[in-house]
Amino acid sequence: MKYIFVTGGVVSSLGKGLTAAALGTLLENRGLNVALQKFDPYLNLDPGTMSPYQHGEVYVLDDGAETDLDLGHYERFTHTKLSRRNNTTSGQVYQQVLDNERAGVYLGKTVQVIPHVTDEIQRRITSLAEESKADVLITEVGGTVGDIEGLPFLEAIREFAHEAGSHNVCFLHVTYVPFIKAAGELKTKPTQQSVAKLREIGITPHVLVCRCEHPLNKELRQKMSVFCNVPYDAVIEEKDVDHTIYEVPLMLQRERMDDLVCRQLELHVPPANMTYWQDIIRKIVAPAHRVRIGVVGKYLSLQDAYKSVYESLIHAGAANDCAVQIELVDAEELERFGPDKSLKELGGILVPGGFGDRGIEGKIIAARFAREYRLPYFGLCLGMQIASIEFARNVLGLQKANSTEFDPETPHPVISRLEEQERVTRLGGTMRLGAQTIELKMGTRAQKLYGAFVIRERHRHRFEFNNKYRDQFEKAGFVFSGIYAQEDLVEVIELNDHPFFVASQFHPEFQSKPDSPHPLFKGFIAAAHERMHHKPL
Ligand code: GLN
Repeated sequence: MKYIFVTGGVVSSLGKGLTAAALGTLLENRGLNVALQKFDPYLNLDPGTMSPYQHGEVYVLDDGAETDLDLGHYERFTHTKLSRRNNTTSGQVYQQVLDNERAGVYLGKTVQVIPHVTDEIQRRITSLAEESKADVLITEVGGTVGDIEGLPFLEAIREFAHEAGSHNVCFLHVTYVPFIKAAGELKTKPTQQSVAKLREIGITPHVLVCRCEHPLNKELRQKMSVFCNVPYDAVIEEKDVDHTIYEVPLMLQRERMDDLVCRQLELHVPPANMTYWQDIIRKIVAPAHRVRIGVVGKYLSLQDAYKSVYESLIHAGAANDCAVQIELVDAEELERFGPDKSLKELGGILVPGGFGDRGIEGKIIAARFAREYRLPYFGLCLGMQIASIEFARNVLGLQKANSTEFDPETPHPVISRLEEQERVTRLGGTMRLGAQTIELKMGTRAQKLYGAFVIRERHRHRFEFNNKYRDQFEKAGFVFSGIYAQEDLVEVIELNDHPFFVASQFHPEFQSKPDSPHPLFKGFIAAAHERMHHKPL
C-alpha cells in the first residue's frame, strides 16, 4: 500500500481537493486502484449543521454521510467508493478518543493529543487503507499549514510516514505563488515560509504544487527548489484553468505530477492514457450551442453553495452539445419586483435545494412563471416542494398552501413532516439522508429519461409531500412519477402538457459525473436547448 498526503499552504481555497482528485484520475488511468480520504480539522462532527456561507455545499454520500464538498470532486474525478469513513473531522476524532476514555480503553493513562489523538487519526488512515484494498490512498489534510487546529493531523501523518518507510509515502504540498501587480512579479516568499513551517513539524514535501495565475519561470522554480528542499523537477505549476476544472488532470500530467509521485513511491506503472478524458473535455470546451439556465436561489454569491448542481449542469450540457450559461436569479428580488419578462428568454429554470423561509415566495413565483409560460422547470429537493406549493395555490386554489417548514400554521400543509420526524429535536444528522430505492411509474417522463423502473438516489431533507393531498393533486393533472415504495413517499413529480416540468425530492446532483451525466439533468438541458434553438419565442 502506498500513501499520498496532500497539504495546503499560504491560503485556503487553493483547490487542494481538486488537485487530489485530479491526481486520482491520473493514477487510475495508470492502472492503479485509488482511494481518497479527507481530514477536516474543525470540531463539527460533520459539515451537516454548517451554513453554506461557512462551508459551501454539503455533499451527501450513499450511506447518508454529510461530507465536505471535496468528496464530490473525488467521486466525479475517480471511480473510488466513498462512505462516511472517507471524511474525518477533528470532532469525530475527539469523540472517539473521549468514548474510549469513558470505556476505560486507555488503562489509567493521561489522555493526550499525542499519542491518543494522533493514534486515532493514524488508525483512520490504516483502517481505510485496509478496507479499500486500493493500491494508493490519497489523504487530503484540510486547512492551511500553520493553523493550530491542523497540527494533530500533521503530526499524525509525520509519524505515519516514519513507520511506513520512505518509499511508501509521498508528501504533496499545494501552495500559492501570488502575483504582485505593482511589481509585475510572482512572489515565492509565502511558499518558502509555509514549507519552513511544514519542515518544522518534520515533513519535507516531495512535490511542491504551485497555484498561480501566471506561469512560473525557471528562476522561480530554482529558487523554490533550493529554499524548500524540493528537487527542481518536483516544483510544479498549477495555473488557473482556462475553461473547465476537468482540464486539471491534463495540466498536472503535463507537469509530470503523476511521474513524480510514481517515482517517489517506486510504482512501476505505464503512463496514463487520457484519451477518454480528453474527449470529455472536448465536449465541454467546444460545444456547438449555448443554453441559458436561471438558477433561483439565495446563496447566489457563493460559488460553492451549489457546486454539484453547477457541475451536473456542465455534464448535461456537454452531453447535449451545449454550453450552459448559468444566470443567477435572486429569489428575494423576484419577491420584491415580480417576474421580469427576461425570464422568458431563459432556456429553463432550476430551483435547487435549500432551508429556511428566506426567498421562498420568490421561488414560488419562478415555478408559477415556468408552469404558465411553459418554460422548462427542474426542481431539486426544495425545488420539488416549491413546485407542489405553487400547484396547490394556483391550480387547486388552496391559497394559503405551504410547507410547515415555512408556515407551521398553514391550513393546507401540502409539505409537512412525517410523525417520526416531528419527534426529532436534534439538528445534526437527523434528516432523511442517503441513498434509497425509488420506483418509477411506467411511461412517465422520469421513467423514460432514466430508461429504468427502479433507481437509487441520495436524500437530504426533513419535509415530505403530504400524502393526504395526493388524490386531489393527481385529479388536477399533477403526476407522481417516482415513489419510495417502502414508506410510500413522493420522490418525483412532473406535469404533462408541459415541455419539461420535473422535480425530485432527492438530490440527483450527487450522482452526475462528466462521463455519465445524470438523466434528469440531461433531459432538462435537452428541453432548454429545444426551447432556445428550435422554438424561438
Ligand atoms: N428544507 C427542505 C426540507 O428539509 C428541503 C431540503 C433541501 O432542499 N435539501 O425538507
